[in-house]
Amino acid sequence: MPPVPSAVPADAPSAPRLADVLAALDALWPPERAEQWDAVGTVCGDPGATVTRVLFAVDPVQEIADEAVQLGAELIVTHHPLYLRGTTTVAASTFKGRVVHTLIKHDIALHVAHTNADTADPGVSDALAGALDLRVVRPLVPDPTDPAGRRGLGRICELDRPATLRDFAARVAHRLPGTAQGIRIAGDPDAPVRTIAVSGGSGDGLFDQVRAAGVDAFLTADLRHHPVSEATQQTALGLVDAAHWATEWPWCEQAAAQLDEISDRHGWDLRVHVSKTVTDPWSAHHSSDSSGAPN
Ligand SMILES: [Zn+2]
Repeated sequence: MPPVPSAVPADAPSAPRLADVLAALDALWPPERAEQWDAVGTVCGDPGATVTRVLFAVDPVQEIADEAVQLGAELIVTHHPLYLRGTTTVAASTFKGRVVHTLIKHDIALHVAHTNADTADPGVSDALAGALDLRVVRPLVPDPTDPAGRRGLGRICELDRPATLRDFAARVAHRLPGTAQGIRIAGDPDAPVRTIAVSGGSGDGLFDQVRAAGVDAFLTADLRHHPVSEATQQTALGLVDAAHWATEWPWCEQAAAQLDEISDRHGWDLRVHVSKTVTDPWSAHHSSDSSGAPN
């Protein structure tokens, strides 16, 4: 008897199971490469469920859970963990519990790639450098277990042509997504800049490595008074401080493109989205009157 023709050709794209997508994500950002204190991996989700849409975002907050519901996504991948320090309740009376309830009610899985994505090749700081058209030379803090010397924290980069610190900051302001904070500079705005260390997210624990690298400038987020004051007193290092969310958001686009490519290779029927919702917690900014010194 001849085979009965199927309505669906054998090579037609089919939606993957969550377990298949998670295996692909773990291959990109192996969870064992996360820092000891971190909480990466799958927060909720049924491995056997089908996934047709994925939403990438920086923060696992309620706005992102609601966006996934609107989109019909069955998987959210975020950079930041929902529960970094563990919990004893997911009651919907807590804001994180409300996120969990929204996700489970709508069959949406949540997966986190945090410090394992920071140090990956390509990682969070490669995406930041790419958004700014910087040429990546090497990691700022190389991962000693990577013989190729490409993985690690932060990146040392070069500008295509020399600019002033002020020009570079203007490029950062123009290329990264807009936030209330905007961009702050420490150091001489007219100093020439050619080599730059970049680190997506909070980077003021990296000043020793930045100084040792001998770069002209350092772009990161969450810079505080004392480390900045000391760094600018000690050397002519220029500092560019952007919003934490803005420095990590380019990773969402990079990660989405990586999953898209994997999906094509497997012949998956999967749509990959990047959230454009600004989840940086700062909501407004006023420049103070710089001519008004204290009386
Ligand atoms: Zn972060």
